[in-house]
Amino acid sequence: MMTTDTSQVRERLVDLIKLQVLYDRLHAVRARQGDLPQQIEDLRDKVATIQHALSETAEMIRQAESEARALHVSNDSLRDHEQKLRKRLEAVRTNQEYYKIESEIKETHLTIEKNLQDIRRLQHKADSLRQRYAEDEATLNELQARIAEKEQRLKEIIQHTAEQEAALLQQIEDLSKVLQEQDPRLFLLFERRRRSFRGGKAVCSIISTERLEGRYACGGCFTLLPREMHRKIKQRDKIIICESCGRFLVDEEFYAEVAKSMP
Ligand SMILES: [Zn+2]
Repeated sequence: MMTTDTSQVRERLVDLIKLQVLYDRLHAVRARQGDLPQQIEDLRDKVATIQHALSETAEMIRQAESEARALHVSNDSLRDHEQKLRKRLEAVRTNQEYYKIESEIKETHLTIEKNLQDIRRLQHKADSLRQRYAEDEATLNELQARIAEKEQRLKEIIQHTAEQEAALLQQIEDLSKVLQEQDPRLFLLFERRRRSFRGGKAVCSIISTERLEGRYACGGCFTLLPREMHRKIKQRDKIIICESCGRFLVDEEFYAEVAKSMP
């Protein structure tokens, strides 16, 4: 049986409001972490992307440098070859041989020139890659600093709220035990409502409507309440449940009074 005695009913109503207030406080404490964990996660994704880009850029720099080195080596031997050709040119006997060697010298020279151009192009490429690398690295450092800062903030919040959370859970447990002993059916009903509503709001105060003078609505689902129900709620001696959403309804002042009385 649910409590029927008037003064007992009022006590039970007070218990319900107190439990609700405690759960509201618990929600507020837990909400303080906000979306910090998600923000940290997003930043870590960005860091991974940049780290990947950095290793790709580093590889491209290595490649450009090694191509340029190979061209330098190639030019060294081309210059040797050119020297040898010039020496041979001094000793030629026929015009035909002379022109043949001379054209080979020209060709060698052109290849050397072409290689020098390529080396300059590769050096320029490596320079701009190094600049990109430095910029990405700066961004990476900045992101890592932001992650560290957010992690520190989250850690502080968790440390700070852990105590508050534990204290609230203890208060909830104590009061739940009392209510469960006094009126198990009522407690069960409260628990069921609390678990089924978003935000865990099982008890709510009624609210005055703007459009209809003197009329009230459920503070949870905003369904307009019959005048008779409003009158009964005001008397604070019956357990009244919203016919539409099933939440426990109490008047605003009552809820505020009880909440204020709590440490
Ligand atoms: Zn309702």
